[in-house]
Amino acid sequence: MLTYEEALQEILAYVPLMPTKRLTLDTLPGFVISEPVVANFDMPLFDNSAVDGFGVFSSDDQLASESEPCKLTLQATIQAGDHASHALKPNSALKILTGAPVPDNVDAVVMKEFTEESNSSVFIKCSASPGMNIRRKGEEFQAGQTILEPGVLANASVIGLLATLGYSSFSAYKKPSVAVISTGNELVQPGQSLKPGQIYDSNSFALSAALSSLGLLGIDKLHAEDNPNDTRKTLRKALNADVVISCGGVSVGDYDFVKDIAEEIGIKTVFWRIAIKPGKPVYFGILDTNNVRKLVFGLPGNPVSALVTFHQLVKPALMKMMGLSYQPLRLTAKLTAPLKKQAGRMEFVRGKLTTDGGQLLVSPAKGQDSHMMGGIAKADCLIYFPLESQLLNAGDPVTVEQLNWTL
Ligand code: AMP
Ligand code: MG
Repeated sequence: MLTYEEALQEILAYVPLMPTKRLTLDTLPGFVISEPVVANFDMPLFDNSAVDGFGVFSSDDQLASESEPCKLTLQATIQAGDHASHALKPNSALKILTGAPVPDNVDAVVMKEFTEESNSSVFIKCSASPGMNIRRKGEEFQAGQTILEPGVLANASVIGLLATLGYSSFSAYKKPSVAVISTGNELVQPGQSLKPGQIYDSNSFALSAALSSLGLLGIDKLHAEDNPNDTRKTLRKALNADVVISCGGVSVGDYDFVKDIAEEIGIKTVFWRIAIKPGKPVYFGILDTNNVRKLVFGLPGNPVSALVTFHQLVKPALMKMMGLSYQPLRLTAKLTAPLKKQAGRMEFVRGKLTTDGGQLLVSPAKGQDSHMMGGIAKADCLIYFPLESQLLNAGDPVTVEQLNWTL
């Protein structure tokens, strides 16, 4: 059986990158840029003032102070948006507002707070030094410079950067379409009444929520009864999407058809079963047709197993398809209570992080069985209980990974 790390590497090795498209800045948030962001011009575009104040020759005001202000003639006002056609005259000051161009021969702008304006004069009450409060042309970046490499999520600050640089659209990776299949004769949609033996379908809602948290919308939600025909029909339909995520019906039970039917309809099995808990029966296969690769994940049916394996295996794959590299935030925390298990399977124990005087602590959540949604709903991390380890003592340093449902 593969280890978790091996299974993840296998998956990532098979994951295709989505094609790219050009998106307007309004539609780009949540996509990952597929080209480098290059400055088409110097930033700032021109010398401009960082403050509301007065442009001066710093040499005029080197000795100015609160008690001995320097008196200058107010020559003109330059506001943001003006063209800086003025040249500062001797013994004069130019009123310059924040963002307004600073004329070439002005070498300092004194903040308004250190000045006093009276009629057509201005008293400078602090000493000025060359370059003071002037944002220089090209000081942040120069024309032709690469500012961001491809593979960055277009969040608010990236969008702001692109707009600053004058881009109205940008190239990004498309997002994969996803179909979610819940399997099982026992499943009923929440809101309907249950007959004896039935339970509510939670996985398709939890998985859809996880997908929408990654910015993947328009999920094709399907259901398959526990028989080969319905499994075949549903799986075929789901393969219209780039990624198929089924849950349930993938273990060794008499009514588990997902893996066999997947193989029957031409999906190539990459692996089945991983030495992890929860999530041992996970299936992963691929279907290559017309130069397009589809991914098929068969997650376990138990709700905690489905969510944990989505987080640990499917999310990294989806991120890679969307152009993002997978770099989970793994931290070291001090375990507050002992944990026991058998050797041979790595466990992802649902935990809750707290801090105590700067020390990160992690407590296992109550309700660790794979059908217990209360435990994972209260957790904010997974504690890595290594494959061969059988005991972790209270106070031991352990690796934890944040349960982070966003990109
Ligand atoms: P299976 O692998 O199909 O045997 O499912 C394992 C367990 O998960 C069973 O107790 C199922 O009833 C339960 N289960 C399967 N699918 C779902 C679902 N979509 N929502 C809630 N529980 C499920
Ligand atoms: Mg089932």
